[in-house]
Amino acid sequence: MREDVPEDCRSCGACCFGTPRHVRVWGSDYARLGDAAESMVHWTADRAFLKLVISRCEQLEHRAEGVACRIYDRRPDACREFIRGSAACEAELDRRNPVALAFLGQAVVDS
Ligand code: SF4
Ligand code: SF4
Repeated sequence: MREDVPEDCRSCGACCFGTPRHVRVWGSDYARLGDAAESMVHWTADRAFLKLVISRCEQLEHRAEGVACRIYDRRPDACREFIRGSAACEAELDRRNPVALAFLGQAVVDS
């Protein structure tokens, strides 16, 4: 595993930032999210994606121990593919943007 991969995803969150089409929500994801699904997604034509706040997934929040996903147990399949240390994870670390770093910095201050 690359040396710059954080030991704990709660000190990172890099894979929870992106463009408006960052996290696709397929039909099975939508069903898993349950009654709240419609409030969590935005639509582009007939495709659903998780809502972002600027470039941050709306479901990423600050917690005392760092950052965490509000819907971790129900998160879409696209998020489940991000195994810490995987090629996908490393690609997100390479792309980590200033908004992600600023959000993480706020989490450290808030804890
Ligand atoms: S999977 Fe990788 S990019 Fe995502 S939070 Fe964990 S360490 Fe960061
Ligand atoms: S749903 Fe959770 S794991 Fe997926 S991008 Fe949003 S905060 Fe990250």
